[in-house]
Amino acid sequence: MQLDITGLSKTYPNGVRALDDISLSMGTGMFGLLGPNGAGKSTLMRTIATLQLPDAGSVRFGDIDVLANPDALRRALGYLPQEFGLYPNLSAEVTLDHFATMKGVVDRRARRELVGALLHQTNLFDVRAKHVGTFSGGMKQRLGIAIALAGSPKLLIVDEPTAGLDPTERHRFLNLLGEIGQNIVVILSTHIVEDVRELCNAMAIINKGRVIVAERPGEIIGRLAGKLWRKETSKAELPELTAAHQVISTQLLAGVPVVHVYADANPGPGFEARDPDLEDVYFHQLGLAGQREAA
Ligand code: ADP
Repeated sequence: MQLDITGLSKTYPNGVRALDDISLSMGTGMFGLLGPNGAGKSTLMRTIATLQLPDAGSVRFGDIDVLANPDALRRALGYLPQEFGLYPNLSAEVTLDHFATMKGVVDRRARRELVGALLHQTNLFDVRAKHVGTFSGGMKQRLGIAIALAGSPKLLIVDEPTAGLDPTERHRFLNLLGEIGQNIVVILSTHIVEDVRELCNAMAIINKGRVIVAERPGEIIGRLAGKLWRKETSKAELPELTAAHQVISTQLLAGVPVVHVYADANPGPGFEARDPDLEDVYFHQLGLAGQREAA
Protein backbone atom coordinates (compact mmCIF):
# COMPACT_ATOMS: atom_id res chain seq x y z
CA MET A 1 0.00 0.00 0.00
CA GLN A 2 1.10 3.53 -0.64
CA LEU A 3 0.08 6.88 0.81
CA ASP A 4 0.40 9.84 -1.54
CA ILE A 5 -0.04 13.37 -0.27
CA THR A 6 -0.12 16.09 -2.90
CA GLY A 7 -0.13 19.86 -2.49
CA LEU A 8 -1.73 19.87 0.96
CA SER A 9 -2.27 23.34 2.43
CA LYS A 10 -4.08 24.57 5.50
CA THR A 11 -4.39 28.03 7.01
CA TYR A 12 -6.15 28.27 10.37
CA PRO A 13 -8.73 31.04 10.91
CA ASN A 14 -6.15 32.95 13.01
CA GLY A 15 -3.95 33.22 9.90
CA VAL A 16 -1.37 30.54 10.82
CA ARG A 17 -0.35 28.66 7.67
CA ALA A 18 0.16 25.25 9.27
CA LEU A 19 0.56 23.34 5.97
CA ASP A 20 2.08 25.00 2.94
CA ASP A 21 1.93 22.84 -0.19
CA ILE A 22 3.05 19.56 1.38
CA SER A 23 3.70 16.63 -0.97
CA LEU A 24 5.00 13.28 0.30
CA SER A 25 4.81 9.60 -0.61
CA MET A 26 5.08 6.73 1.84
CA GLY A 27 5.15 2.98 1.29
CA THR A 28 5.07 0.00 3.65
CA GLY A 29 7.47 0.53 6.55
CA MET A 30 8.16 3.20 9.12
CA PHE A 31 8.06 6.76 7.84
CA GLY A 32 9.52 9.34 10.22
CA LEU A 33 8.00 12.80 10.14
CA LEU A 34 10.42 15.01 11.96
CA GLY A 35 10.08 18.68 12.79
CA PRO A 36 10.23 21.15 15.66
CA ASN A 37 7.19 22.01 17.73
CA GLY A 38 4.75 24.03 15.65
CA ALA A 39 6.08 22.64 12.34
CA GLY A 40 2.65 21.34 11.31
CA LYS A 41 3.07 17.65 12.11
CA SER A 42 -0.15 17.23 14.08
CA THR A 43 -2.12 19.19 11.51
CA LEU A 44 -0.77 16.87 8.81
CA MET A 45 -1.49 13.74 10.89
CA ARG A 46 -5.03 14.89 11.68
CA THR A 47 -5.66 15.70 8.03
CA ILE A 48 -4.49 12.25 6.90
CA ALA A 49 -6.60 10.71 9.68
CA THR A 50 -9.65 12.59 8.25
CA LEU A 51 -10.17 14.54 11.49
CA GLN A 52 -9.84 17.87 9.72
CA LEU A 53 -10.01 19.15 6.16
CA PRO A 54 -7.25 20.95 4.28
CA ASP A 55 -7.88 24.08 2.19
CA ALA A 56 -6.23 22.48 -0.85
CA GLY A 57 -4.52 19.31 -1.98
CA SER A 58 -5.25 15.60 -2.08
CA VAL A 59 -4.50 12.46 -0.08
CA ARG A 60 -4.65 8.99 -1.63
CA PHE A 61 -4.15 5.70 0.19
CA GLY A 62 -3.97 2.87 -2.32
CA ASP A 63 -7.09 3.39 -4.39
CA ILE A 64 -8.88 5.43 -1.70
CA ASP A 65 -9.37 9.14 -2.37
CA VAL A 66 -9.17 10.04 1.32
CA LEU A 67 -10.79 13.48 1.25
CA ALA A 68 -13.69 12.32 -0.94
CA ASN A 69 -14.19 9.07 0.94
CA PRO A 70 -13.10 9.51 4.56
CA ASP A 71 -15.06 6.48 5.79
CA ALA A 72 -13.05 4.13 3.58
CA LEU A 73 -9.83 5.53 5.03
CA ARG A 74 -11.14 5.25 8.60
CA ARG A 75 -11.74 1.53 8.07
CA ALA A 76 -8.08 1.13 7.10
CA LEU A 77 -6.70 3.45 9.79
CA GLY A 78 -5.22 3.06 13.25
CA TYR A 79 -4.49 6.38 14.93
CA LEU A 80 -2.70 7.05 18.17
CA PRO A 81 -3.11 10.76 18.91
CA GLN A 82 -0.81 12.72 21.22
CA GLU A 83 -3.37 12.56 23.97
CA PHE A 84 -6.06 9.97 24.40
CA GLY A 85 -8.37 9.12 27.28
CA LEU A 86 -8.86 5.71 28.87
CA TYR A 87 -11.30 4.72 31.57
CA PRO A 88 -9.02 4.36 34.61
CA ASN A 89 -11.19 1.77 36.34
CA LEU A 90 -11.32 -0.66 33.43
CA SER A 91 -8.70 -3.35 32.95
CA ALA A 92 -6.54 -3.46 29.83
CA GLU A 93 -8.39 -6.59 28.73
CA VAL A 94 -11.86 -5.10 29.11
CA THR A 95 -10.73 -1.87 27.43
CA LEU A 96 -9.42 -3.76 24.42
CA ASP A 97 -12.47 -6.00 24.27
CA HIS A 98 -14.63 -2.88 24.14
CA PHE A 99 -12.62 -1.35 21.28
CA ALA A 100 -12.57 -4.63 19.36
CA THR A 101 -16.38 -4.73 19.60
CA MET A 102 -16.57 -1.17 18.30
CA LYS A 103 -14.30 -2.16 15.41
CA GLY A 104 -16.87 -4.78 14.45
CA VAL A 105 -15.38 -7.96 15.90
CA VAL A 106 -18.75 -9.18 17.19
CA ASP A 107 -18.04 -12.90 17.55
CA ARG A 108 -17.01 -13.45 21.20
CA ARG A 109 -14.49 -16.18 20.54
CA ALA A 110 -12.85 -14.30 17.71
CA ARG A 111 -12.71 -11.24 19.93
CA ARG A 112 -11.12 -13.14 22.82
CA GLU A 113 -8.46 -14.45 20.46
CA LEU A 114 -7.80 -11.03 18.99
CA VAL A 115 -7.60 -9.35 22.41
CA GLY A 116 -5.21 -12.06 23.66
CA ALA A 117 -3.00 -11.70 20.59
CA LEU A 118 -2.88 -7.91 20.93
CA LEU A 119 -2.05 -8.14 24.65
CA HIS A 120 0.80 -10.51 23.83
CA GLN A 121 2.03 -8.38 20.96
CA THR A 122 2.18 -5.26 23.11
CA ASN A 123 3.63 -7.14 26.08
CA LEU A 124 0.64 -6.37 28.31
CA PHE A 125 -0.69 -9.88 28.74
CA ASP A 126 0.63 -10.27 32.29
CA VAL A 127 -1.02 -7.03 33.40
CA ARG A 128 -4.23 -7.53 31.44
CA ALA A 129 -6.41 -7.59 34.58
CA LYS A 130 -4.96 -4.42 36.09
CA HIS A 131 -6.85 -1.14 35.98
CA VAL A 132 -5.36 1.08 33.31
CA GLY A 133 -5.39 3.99 35.77
CA THR A 134 -2.42 2.28 37.46
CA PHE A 135 -0.44 1.97 34.20
CA SER A 136 2.84 3.81 33.53
CA GLY A 137 3.10 6.17 30.55
CA GLY A 138 4.75 3.48 28.45
CA MET A 139 2.12 0.87 29.30
CA LYS A 140 -0.63 3.33 28.34
CA GLN A 141 1.09 4.04 25.03
CA ARG A 142 1.37 0.32 24.31
CA LEU A 143 -2.30 -0.12 25.14
CA GLY A 144 -3.00 2.79 22.79
CA ILE A 145 -1.19 0.87 20.05
CA ALA A 146 -3.12 -2.32 20.87
CA ILE A 147 -6.36 -0.31 20.53
CA ALA A 148 -5.16 1.19 17.24
CA LEU A 149 -4.34 -2.30 15.96
CA ALA A 150 -7.71 -3.78 16.97
CA GLY A 151 -9.21 -2.90 13.60
CA SER A 152 -6.31 -4.53 11.65
CA PRO A 153 -5.26 -1.23 10.08
CA LYS A 154 -3.28 -0.89 6.86
CA LEU A 155 -2.16 2.57 7.92
CA LEU A 156 -1.01 3.41 11.44
CA ILE A 157 -0.43 7.01 12.51
CA VAL A 158 1.37 7.72 15.78
CA ASP A 159 1.74 11.32 16.89
CA GLU A 160 4.68 12.12 19.23
CA PRO A 161 4.40 8.79 21.05
CA THR A 162 7.69 8.75 22.95
CA ALA A 163 7.42 12.09 24.76
CA GLY A 164 7.53 11.39 28.47
CA LEU A 165 8.62 7.75 28.21
CA ASP A 166 11.69 6.58 30.10
CA PRO A 167 14.51 5.11 27.94
CA THR A 168 13.54 1.46 28.52
CA GLU A 169 9.89 2.07 27.68
CA ARG A 170 10.89 4.17 24.71
CA HIS A 171 12.97 1.37 23.22
CA ARG A 172 10.30 -1.18 23.86
CA PHE A 173 7.72 1.06 22.24
CA LEU A 174 9.86 1.81 19.19
CA ASN A 175 10.66 -1.89 18.72
CA LEU A 176 6.96 -2.63 18.77
CA LEU A 177 6.36 -0.01 16.09
CA GLY A 178 9.24 -1.42 14.05
CA GLU A 179 7.63 -4.88 14.08
CA ILE A 180 4.28 -3.45 13.03
CA GLY A 181 5.99 -1.45 10.26
CA GLN A 182 7.14 -4.63 8.56
CA ASN A 183 3.64 -5.17 7.20
CA ILE A 184 1.81 -1.86 6.99
CA VAL A 185 2.44 1.86 6.49
CA VAL A 186 3.39 3.46 9.82
CA ILE A 187 3.82 7.22 10.15
CA LEU A 188 5.73 8.27 13.22
CA SER A 189 5.53 11.96 13.94
CA THR A 190 8.14 13.22 16.37
CA HIS A 191 10.46 16.06 17.30
CA ILE A 192 12.96 13.51 18.66
CA VAL A 193 15.63 12.80 16.08
CA GLU A 194 16.71 9.52 17.67
CA ASP A 195 13.24 8.03 17.25
CA VAL A 196 13.64 8.37 13.50
CA ARG A 197 17.29 7.39 13.34
CA GLU A 198 16.68 4.11 15.08
CA LEU A 199 13.76 2.86 13.08
CA CYS A 200 12.65 4.65 9.98
CA ASN A 201 13.64 3.62 6.47
CA ALA A 202 12.14 6.78 5.04
CA MET A 203 11.68 10.24 6.47
CA ALA A 204 10.89 13.88 5.93
CA ILE A 205 11.79 16.97 7.88
CA ILE A 206 9.09 19.60 7.97
CA ASN A 207 9.30 23.14 9.27
CA LYS A 208 6.75 25.96 9.20
CA GLY A 209 4.36 23.82 7.20
CA ARG A 210 6.85 22.94 4.46
CA VAL A 211 8.79 19.84 3.57
CA ILE A 212 12.45 20.82 3.75
CA VAL A 213 13.87 17.34 3.06
CA ALA A 214 12.33 14.01 2.11
CA GLU A 215 14.94 11.31 1.61
CA ARG A 216 16.22 8.09 3.09
CA PRO A 217 18.06 8.85 6.34
CA GLY A 218 21.27 7.22 5.04
CA GLU A 219 21.26 9.35 1.89
CA ILE A 220 20.83 12.68 3.66
CA ILE A 221 23.47 11.74 6.21
CA GLY A 222 25.82 10.72 3.37
CA ARG A 223 25.60 14.18 1.83
CA LEU A 224 27.15 15.70 4.97
CA ALA A 225 30.06 13.24 4.92
CA GLY A 226 33.45 14.98 4.88
CA LYS A 227 31.86 18.35 5.65
CA LEU A 228 31.32 18.10 9.34
CA TRP A 229 33.84 19.30 11.91
CA ARG A 230 33.83 19.20 15.66
CA LYS A 231 35.61 21.33 18.20
CA GLU A 232 35.66 21.47 21.96
CA THR A 233 35.57 25.11 22.85
CA SER A 234 34.84 27.49 25.72
CA LYS A 235 31.94 29.79 26.46
CA ALA A 236 34.21 32.78 25.83
CA GLU A 237 35.25 31.55 22.39
CA LEU A 238 31.73 30.62 21.27
CA PRO A 239 30.53 33.98 19.86
CA GLU A 240 33.65 34.31 17.71
CA LEU A 241 33.28 30.76 16.38
CA THR A 242 29.63 31.32 15.60
CA ALA A 243 30.42 34.52 13.70
CA ALA A 244 33.24 32.96 11.68
CA HIS A 245 31.77 29.56 10.82
CA GLN A 246 28.57 27.84 9.89
CA VAL A 247 27.85 26.35 13.30
CA ILE A 248 25.05 23.82 13.03
CA SER A 249 24.85 22.84 16.68
CA THR A 250 26.34 23.57 20.08
CA GLN A 251 26.10 21.02 22.84
CA LEU A 252 27.41 20.88 26.37
CA LEU A 253 29.29 17.62 26.92
CA ALA A 254 30.31 17.16 30.54
CA GLY A 255 30.05 20.94 30.90
CA VAL A 256 32.25 21.69 27.87
CA PRO A 257 30.67 23.38 24.82
CA VAL A 258 31.18 21.29 21.69
CA VAL A 259 30.40 22.87 18.34
CA HIS A 260 29.64 21.10 15.07
CA VAL A 261 30.59 23.18 12.05
CA TYR A 262 29.66 22.67 8.40
CA ALA A 263 32.55 23.42 6.02
CA ASP A 264 34.02 22.00 2.81
CA ALA A 265 37.50 21.81 4.39
CA ASN A 266 38.92 21.76 7.91
CA PRO A 267 37.96 25.16 9.37
CA GLY A 268 41.10 25.57 11.48
CA PRO A 269 43.11 24.62 14.55
CA GLY A 270 41.38 22.42 17.10
CA PHE A 271 38.77 21.07 14.67
CA GLU A 272 38.53 17.39 13.95
CA ALA A 273 36.54 15.57 11.27
CA ARG A 274 33.36 13.98 12.52
CA ASP A 275 31.02 11.38 11.05
CA PRO A 276 27.65 13.05 10.56
CA ASP A 277 24.51 11.64 12.12
CA LEU A 278 20.84 12.39 11.68
CA GLU A 279 20.88 15.08 14.34
CA ASP A 280 23.54 16.98 12.36
CA VAL A 281 21.37 16.68 9.25
CA TYR A 282 18.36 17.93 11.17
CA PHE A 283 20.07 21.03 12.57
CA HIS A 284 21.81 21.73 9.27
CA GLN A 285 18.56 21.55 7.30
CA LEU A 286 16.65 23.68 9.81
CA GLY A 287 19.49 26.22 9.65
CA LEU A 288 19.39 26.29 5.84
CA ALA A 289 15.60 26.71 5.89
CA GLY A 290 16.02 29.63 8.33
CA GLN A 291 18.60 31.26 6.02
CA ARG A 292 16.32 30.87 2.99
CA GLU A 293 13.55 32.59 4.89
CA ALA A 294 15.78 35.43 6.02
CA ALA A 295 17.08 36.02 2.46
P1 ADP B 1 3.33 20.33 15.47
O1 ADP B 1 2.48 19.12 15.61
O2 ADP B 1 4.47 20.13 14.50
O3 ADP B 1 3.82 20.89 16.78
P2 ADP B 1 0.86 21.72 14.77
O4 ADP B 1 0.28 21.10 13.56
O5 ADP B 1 0.28 21.37 16.10
O6 ADP B 1 2.45 21.48 14.77
O7 ADP B 1 0.79 23.30 14.62
C1 ADP B 1 1.26 23.99 13.47
C2 ADP B 1 0.93 25.49 13.63
O8 ADP B 1 -0.47 25.66 13.58
C3 ADP B 1 1.39 26.07 14.96
O9 ADP B 1 1.81 27.39 14.73
C4 ADP B 1 0.14 26.02 15.81
O10 ADP B 1 0.16 27.04 16.78
C5 ADP B 1 -0.94 26.27 14.79
N1 ADP B 1 -2.22 25.59 15.12
C6 ADP B 1 -2.40 24.28 15.34
N2 ADP B 1 -3.71 24.01 15.58
C7 ADP B 1 -4.36 25.19 15.48
C8 ADP B 1 -5.74 25.58 15.60
N3 ADP B 1 -6.70 24.69 15.87
N4 ADP B 1 -6.04 26.89 15.45
C9 ADP B 1 -5.07 27.80 15.18
N5 ADP B 1 -3.76 27.50 15.03
C10 ADP B 1 -3.40 26.21 15.20
